[in-house]
Formats: sequence, C-alpha cells, structure tokens
Amino acid sequence: MKNYRVFDAHCDTMRVVWEKNENLKETSCMVGLNMLKKYSGFTQIFAAWINSKEGNPLAQAVCIADKFYEEISRNQLTPIFDAETLTDVVTGNKLGAILALEDGVALCGDIRVLNMLHKLGFRAVTLTWNGSNELGDGAVDSEGKGLTAFGKDVVRKMNELGMVVDVSHLSERGFWDVIELSSKPIMASHSNARAICDHPRNLSDEQLRALIKNNGAVGINLYNVFLNGTNDASMTDVIRHIEHILSLGGENIIGMGADYDGMDFAAKGIENAGKLCCLFDELSKLGYSDELIEKLTYKNFVRVFSECLR
Ligand SMILES: [Zn+2]
Repeated sequence: MKNYRVFDAHCDTMRVVWEKNENLKETSCMVGLNMLKKYSGFTQIFAAWINSKEGNPLAQAVCIADKFYEEISRNQLTPIFDAETLTDVVTGNKLGAILALEDGVALCGDIRVLNMLHKLGFRAVTLTWNGSNELGDGAVDSEGKGLTAFGKDVVRKMNELGMVVDVSHLSERGFWDVIELSSKPIMASHSNARAICDHPRNLSDEQLRALIKNNGAVGINLYNVFLNGTNDASMTDVIRHIEHILSLGGENIIGMGADYDGMDFAAKGIENAGKLCCLFDELSKLGYSDELIEKLTYKNFVRVFSECLR
C-alpha cells in the first residue's frame, strides 16, 4: 500500500456511535480511529444524520455535535472549522474531522438556527434527505420540486458564513436551483453516476457537467444499491462509476464519499475505511497517475472546502 492522504466526504458514523454509546476508538462501525491511522492523514466529514421520525430534529443535531466534541477531546482528531486548519491537517498528515448536518430539517425553518449551528461548528449541510423539508424536495420520496424561498435563503447564508452546500439527496430541480444560486463551489458528498446505475440518488450526466463547471466535487458512494442496484457490488462496479465521471471530464471534481455506516452493505473488498486503500491500489494498478489518484483521494474536496471555509 502506498501512503495515501484521504478526504472522505460522508459517513454516518458519529450518529451510530452516539446511538450505540460507543466511541471511535473501540467501535464495531465501518469507520474507526485505528483504520484512519493507517493513512498519511485522513480527513473525515462526520454527518449528523437526522431521523425525522424519531423526535426533535434540532435536538438530534445538537446531541450528535456533543458526541463529535467528546470524540475530539478523547482522540487525536483535529476539528476543522477554517481553511487554514484544513491546510495544516492535510500538509501535516494529521487526522481531521469536519462536522456536517445531513437534512436541513434540523434548521426548523429558521435562518437563525443555521447561524447557531455554524457557531456550533457545522461546516456543511445536506439540504434535504430523501423526502421534503422546509428547504425543498428530496430526490426519492417527494414531488421533486425545487428549493423553497427558505431553502434559497439557506444557500445564500451558507455562502456568506463559509459552509459547503451539499446537494446529495436533493431533487433534480433543487440541484439546478442551487447551481444557479450558489456563489461558491458546491458538493454532492455521496452520490454516483446515474448513467451507470439509474437511481434517483445518483447524478445525471448534465448534473455532473454542471458540477464540473461549478468547480465543485462529487464523492463516490460505496453503497451497493447506488453502485449497481443490487445488494452485491464489487470494486469493478465502483471503478465503472469513477471511469464514467472521468469520461465526462470530471478529473477535477471526483472524490470519495463512502457513506460508511449509512448503509447495510458496502462494495466487496472496501467494506470499511481501513480498506479504502485497496481501491486506490487497484486504480494505481490500472495505470491511473499518482496525480489523478491524489485528486480523487483528497485534493478535489480539499480545494472545495478551502474555497468555501473562512
Ligand atoms: Zn445520506
């Protein structure tokens, strides 16, 4: 294995260790501290996924943030709130952690909540989950409408505060609203190519081309269902998505958004964060240049966060 630097744009691990009352050092999760230590630096975005069916959404976001800070104080993890710290973590080969909100439902339709979640350390927001919320419609379980007036306010405010807008899970119309509105690069933190696997959670070629123009980033998702529509996917399926995005000219947007602990099954051979290097080794064997592999493993997402964070 080479010495890879990694930036992974999505996992639900912080939610799971909070629910199970575990910690990142000793956990049964797909992301654990010892796995990240194998690499030459690893920055992980920890998403606070909100279960809207399970009580107060804002309280869930705040409790997962509390867990995030507990893990930070217990472990050698550097929390990243600004571009300078991100550079320091990456160049210093450290372990970095970014707190993100997955589902703007926790904003309770009030822009002041976004302000306070930013003060609490959140640096990215996935605007919707699969259904609709106060910000707009999701990609799976909704009428597919675009952003609401509040959703548009949130995008503008996130640009201003220095937070990264995440369009994974968003309806297609919502995606185009964000593209039109955002003054900064955006990300689809954990979505694949719809041309390879026709699922509403994946992005069309038009959307991927728009992300290229936006100078944004897309994180390859390792969930079997988004890779080939079944519960049985392999590294070859992952590589098909990567190759397709590259064929559209996506060299400067492609990255990782593994979605660990947000799924039942991950692609064979890459079942946890410790095995991500097997995918990178495979790309290397296929003749991918070191430069391209670095863009995919961390550089593209680091660029988007450097441009957005203050
Ligand atoms: Zn998700």
